[in-house]
Amino acid sequence: MARYTGPVCRLCRREGTKLFLKGDRCTSGKCALDRRNTAPGQHGAANKKMKEYGVQFREKQKTRRYYGVLEKQFVNYYEEAERTQGMTGENLLKLLERRLDNVVYRMGMAESRNEARQLVLHEHFSVNGKKVNVPSIIVRVGDVVKVMDNFRNSPKCKALAEAMPAKIAPKWLETDKENLSAKVVAMPERDDIDFPFNEQLIVELYSK
Ligand code: SF4
Repeated sequence: MARYTGPVCRLCRREGTKLFLKGDRCTSGKCALDRRNTAPGQHGAANKKMKEYGVQFREKQKTRRYYGVLEKQFVNYYEEAERTQGMTGENLLKLLERRLDNVVYRMGMAESRNEARQLVLHEHFSVNGKKVNVPSIIVRVGDVVKVMDNFRNSPKCKALAEAMPAKIAPKWLETDKENLSAKVVAMPERDDIDFPFNEQLIVELYSK
């Protein structure tokens, strides 16, 4: 399964904002962006003024990288969002939120979306009782995502489970900290997405 494997802090520096791709490190003093808030590369520190297209393009890249999605997949999500009733930009974000790797991260069973993706790929989660290994599964209302028994007793899972109560899941996910599971009780709303996206810029970019 294709995915970005380069240095992730570089992506935050490119977008000029924290994308929270490295778990606890992102909120510690070790965050690369806190230490050097300039774009990567030889001319990264130059103060370049972006044109309209540049602003729209950067917003799309920021959103894509935040959710860890490659370009082709992102375009597919956009096309699906366009076909769905309602505002395309909001539909796009809601679709990305419902990805299984994002759900695992939101329920507190991974320190980052990257880690969530790895855990799903290694078959450590089930959806409605069925073992899964596809991070891009889109969950629906009523679905239950649960830690598999083989992972439950591992030191990694125990450490995540210990930290789980401190992590606040969005209201569309009902977490069960005893069973290490989460039930999708509603569709995510725009207000549930706390990252400052400007999805309208993405719509403008793809509407050209
Ligand atoms: Fe981004 Fe986290 Fe790296 Fe900071 S530590 S630059 S927030 S991935």
